[in-house]
Amino acid sequence: MQALMMNTQLMISSILNHAEYNFPDVEMVSVTVDNPRHRQNNKTFAKRCRQLANVLDSLGAEFGDRIGTLAWNDHRHMELYYAVSGSGMVCHTINPKLFPEQVTYIINHAEDKILFVDVLVMPLLEALKEHLSKVETIVVLTTKENMPETSLANVECYEELLAAQSDNYDWPQFDENTASGMCYTSGTTGNPKGVVYSHRSTVLHALGGALPDVTRASNLETSLPVVPMFHVNAWGAPYAALMVGMKLVLPGPKMADGETLCDLMNTEGVTFSSGVPTIWLALLDYLEANKKSVPSLSRVSVGGAACPRIIVERFREQHDCIVVQGWGMTETSPLGTVFSLKAGMEDFTTEQITDLQCLQGRGVFGIEMKIVDEEDETLPWDGVAFGALKVRGPWVASGYYGLSDVPGDEDCPVDEKGWFQTGDVAAITPEGFLKITDRTKDVIKSGGEWISSIDIENAAVNHPDIAEAAVIGRYHPKWTERPLLIVVLQPEKSISRDDVMEFLQDKLHKMARPDDVVFVDELPHTATGKISKIGLRKTFEDYQFPAA
Ligand code: ADP
Repeated sequence: MQALMMNTQLMISSILNHAEYNFPDVEMVSVTVDNPRHRQNNKTFAKRCRQLANVLDSLGAEFGDRIGTLAWNDHRHMELYYAVSGSGMVCHTINPKLFPEQVTYIINHAEDKILFVDVLVMPLLEALKEHLSKVETIVVLTTKENMPETSLANVECYEELLAAQSDNYDWPQFDENTASGMCYTSGTTGNPKGVVYSHRSTVLHALGGALPDVTRASNLETSLPVVPMFHVNAWGAPYAALMVGMKLVLPGPKMADGETLCDLMNTEGVTFSSGVPTIWLALLDYLEANKKSVPSLSRVSVGGAACPRIIVERFREQHDCIVVQGWGMTETSPLGTVFSLKAGMEDFTTEQITDLQCLQGRGVFGIEMKIVDEEDETLPWDGVAFGALKVRGPWVASGYYGLSDVPGDEDCPVDEKGWFQTGDVAAITPEGFLKITDRTKDVIKSGGEWISSIDIENAAVNHPDIAEAAVIGRYHPKWTERPLLIVVLQPEKSISRDDVMEFLQDKLHKMARPDDVVFVDELPHTATGKISKIGLRKTFEDYQFPAA
């Protein structure tokens, strides 16, 4: 028997409509290059989104076109999120901090028709201009007075374009499985891969994310997402916030600046904030050095990399603030697991609770997870057994843009049984807390950004005196992980650490250069002859980088 319920499509524009009618006065505060404290309410925001939809139309954008953004967290980027997706185009957020070759690859692979870029990103685009043949228009996210000098063709000013358009626009209705957004992940080797979100996945993810045990998003809270909007939709905050009428405070390009974050938190009454561990260490250090506090802040969510215990302890002891660790991936939109206590844990000691906060959190409804052994047999949730972590659910990627989405195919991340293979290794406790123990994917995550270990290895083995090279990520107090290069020299050769570093100087981007080089007589290998990274990680378990 068929149900008799309306088959209303889950549309991103419905979140905007909801916010406009139910929370018209709720504010959105932004730092931009042209305004240190821009304020607008949801009513103005919704009106500007409709004007922007008309701008897109006037620039010739059509249903399904990819519209690239290279921008920080601010109200204009928010407008792009809603207007681009709402009008049936694909909001393709691009990380301006990637290496220029990756930015070029990503823009060309997605075939972005229009780029909306922050003023600060214009020098990057100037440098790439020979390579962006498919981009028809570049819109600079600023006012007329702040437009930069440029040698690029077809450059427009965002505020001028907006001012010329009416705010009459009806958001179209279409299939909820239509692509709404795109974000490339450069997780493993080779070229970055495009994750394509839908209206349905985005709305469901925002609903799941707003649950009390997840972010506790509410009209009574004020959120400052430090996690960039160019990375996995700022973990869904732009959608969840408008869904529940939560005030948003957006730090613009000042994401890593302790002083700005502290000032925004105190003057805007921020209660909740989200970001990678590196950001929190910087803020904690700033607060301590300047004897400042953030009394309104009650919870911070930490993800993207394992949260060091010291962050949990310092937030609790110095700022009476709870750290909520979560695990996720670009491919999981990203919410997978989030910390929250269960009934019966109220009487736990501070130590016990800290232990739980240092795990990766519990499953959010919408994400099913399992751990498996090498034969793909499911392992128990006993906190001891560990294996490859697999997930599935309505906001998990079924494939990458332009690659196979047939489960089991080599370039499809989903196995024959329909489970997404995360590349993480984990245990799960009987209470359902995820504990990431390792990674099978060969990458290093430094300050929330990926570094390919293979790129470093390839660069190193080009040195005539190096026979073999392997790179692993090791704990670093500031960046969470940094690359350590381990080399075997050719027989009878002797070169120093500094020789290797100098050799790599012009071959690798600054962030991708290893922090240290160690020499060994031989590297451990697996049965199939590959370098055993697991073995190396074990050998160098207690390794510490020399102090800078
Ligand atoms: P994000 O940075 O938003 O988590 P990415 O797709 O860039 O998304 O990275 C996902 C990977 O980051 C995961 O597969 C895992 O290796 C690592 N990761 C994410 N969150 C955590 C965490 N809390 N602890 C340990 N590793 C994490």
